[in-house]
Amino acid sequence: MKLTKISGVVFDTRRLGAKNADDARDLMEYAHEKGIEVFDISPHFMEGACERVFLQAREELSFEPQISYKFGRVPNASDTAESFSREFYDALGRFRVSAFDMYTVYDINSFETWSDYKNDGEVYETAVELKNRGLIKRLAVVCTLGGDELKEVLSDIPDIDCVFMPVSPLELKARSGAMELCRAHGIEVFALTPLLGGVFRRFPRLLSPIVTPGLSDEQAALRLLNRAGLGLMCAFTKKSEIDMLEAALSDDAPEVKINGDFGSYETFCTACGLCRMCPIKSHVTTLMAAYNAYVASGDPGDMVKHARRAFGEDEYLYNTRKCIGCRLCERICPQGIRISERIEHLRNEAHKT
Ligand code: SF4
Ligand code: SF4
Repeated sequence: MKLTKISGVVFDTRRLGAKNADDARDLMEYAHEKGIEVFDISPHFMEGACERVFLQAREELSFEPQISYKFGRVPNASDTAESFSREFYDALGRFRVSAFDMYTVYDINSFETWSDYKNDGEVYETAVELKNRGLIKRLAVVCTLGGDELKEVLSDIPDIDCVFMPVSPLELKARSGAMELCRAHGIEVFALTPLLGGVFRRFPRLLSPIVTPGLSDEQAALRLLNRAGLGLMCAFTKKSEIDMLEAALSDDAPEVKINGDFGSYETFCTACGLCRMCPIKSHVTTLMAAYNAYVASGDPGDMVKHARRAFGEDEYLYNTRKCIGCRLCERICPQGIRISERIEHLRNEAHKT
């Protein structure tokens, strides 16, 4: 295998919170040996557990990881330069760094969300000022928008260096215009969820147009995105997953062949877990995993079956009924999923089957 250093990959630490610090450190060391330099952390990942484990693991690392961090908030028009700065400096202090290598200031998952962000105004200006002072090296946003909406966003925030875009092989064609637009603005694009958080493993049929002897379908999917010029944000739980990625991106790996079109689907939940912040502690992620079965097959009976299996009948209904429709979860979902509508659909279908 010619390529031994993986480049353009960001280690998404969202699953580190379930490990102890020694195991997390071991995995980070291995990733670094393979050439992965940047580690992405959100204060929301596993309700802060990932940050805690990362900081403990970092204590005895043999290298200095580059840190990609985020403004950890639900969009709120009352955010001010002051509240943003306070949170930023607190995070710098917790990480004991003089600057963040990357900092995601906005999660723009709908044009409505963008309008709220725009109204708060001061946050972006403050972030740019911090960047100009060398406290942020690369400024990033997560963005699901395309076309004229994306054009408007990019002209509003000209100092953005990177965009994390939810893209897998299923959306590659549809998002090519958005990717081109970013590149025309000199912006680096990363595929936020290249393997949809395990969806392809659960529904392998989705990748059936990929025919590439010598690579698994997931490896071919990663290579396809890499060849399209995208950086990759990947979550790892074990070394073999890093090996799998390394083999997929190797110079020696076969080029990917596609036979036919990928289907067209509603957005899949990628199990990022950010909607666990639900104020009434509804099991949103399990409900959304059940809904994925419907997205994949188009048969509502599949999601009901999955939800019943995951919860049992009473708990399933209880979780759909207790949702108060506040939509806080939707404001934070990086995939822009209309979670409350999906929960309602799950509730209604329960009575039909
Ligand atoms: S809309 Fe429902 S699931 Fe989402 S945060 Fe509100 S109560 Fe929780
Ligand atoms: S619904 Fe959205 S926020 Fe919740 S787990 Fe899925 S992708 Fe993440």
